[in-house]
Amino acid sequence: MRISYSAFDTYQSCPLKYKFQEIDKIKTPKSKEAVFGTTVHETMKFIHTPGILSPTLDQAMEHFSNAWNPAVFDSPDEERAAFSQGIRIIQDYYKKNNPANFNIVDLETRFQIEIGDGDDKHIISGIIDRIDKTEDGYEIIDYKTTKKMPSQEKVDNDLQLSVYLKAFLSRYPKEIENIDKLKVSLYYLKHGVKLSATRTIDQLKKSEQLFLDTIKLIEEKKFEPLISPLCDWCGYQNLCPMWKHKFKGLRKIDTEEINKDIQEYIELKSAMTITKDRLAKLQEDIINYMDQEGVERVFGGEGVIARTLRRTYKYDEKKIKDILEPLDKWEDVLKVDGIALKNIMDALPLADRKEIEKARVVDKETKSLSVKKK
Ligand code: SF4
Repeated sequence: MRISYSAFDTYQSCPLKYKFQEIDKIKTPKSKEAVFGTTVHETMKFIHTPGILSPTLDQAMEHFSNAWNPAVFDSPDEERAAFSQGIRIIQDYYKKNNPANFNIVDLETRFQIEIGDGDDKHIISGIIDRIDKTEDGYEIIDYKTTKKMPSQEKVDNDLQLSVYLKAFLSRYPKEIENIDKLKVSLYYLKHGVKLSATRTIDQLKKSEQLFLDTIKLIEEKKFEPLISPLCDWCGYQNLCPMWKHKFKGLRKIDTEEINKDIQEYIELKSAMTITKDRLAKLQEDIINYMDQEGVERVFGGEGVIARTLRRTYKYDEKKIKDILEPLDKWEDVLKVDGIALKNIMDALPLADRKEIEKARVVDKETKSLSVKKK
């Protein structure tokens, strides 16, 4: 299949969004964040387009201002804040970088690379924002206008940068011998911070495999919705099963009865939480009283409360293993603990996280309701 990096990224963030966008081809208006990002990217291209003289800060700000589209914003205040932020980004960029000091090789380069082999061959396309020649190698840079900046560890494993480096190497194959001198960077313009890393050949191979695994999921039509903070910027909320009920006014599918059920369910759930908190407080007071009076049972008009001691134990793993292994019972007590696994997942390299995900199968499925109060 042919897939652009941005479509791949959409699948990673939410498979259902990918389906709406790439398969059902449902168009949504460009979000203001996307329009803002495009204008900043255009300005960065203007700043670094090779010429006799690099543009001055004033020229760069003028370019930004001419490309500005105020129509996408909800209010004049919002528009003004976004415009000022754009100007601040450019000023900050000039403070930290002199455009004349860079040896630009290419800007907004389109690429197409082949991955996989045999029947499992695919084409990835994309656009690399900038390639610089550095003193001893090259640097591949992607600009970001997001609010959130990732950790260095995430940049070290970032799939986009690995794909861009592969694309670079398909154009300059000899540079593979120099791979440790090829820098890949994400420039977070809102923060004025560039995070850089390098890649090994092994990392590139692993990232290709990750791509192939994801393409397999797309081919198997796995399009589950994935709720995340990114939903706030998703143009498909009114079609998405996780959100469309919010737009019920437009769809007229609700009856008064279900509205009442929803209301009562939320009220009962919050009453349960209050009750649980109150019970914990009462328990604490009664235990304190028992300690103070040296009693293990207390008597009230409605009944008796007795204190019982519950112990939990932990075992010496080696000793238990020594006892159970000769009896052929050790394997019976070994069980992968899903919660413990989840706790360590974030600290694992991306490739290993994917391998763990591949190693899991659905044991049983139950549907439950959760409540998030407004
Ligand atoms: S609203 Fe959220 S869960 Fe639904 S399609 Fe969009 S990103 Fe996915």
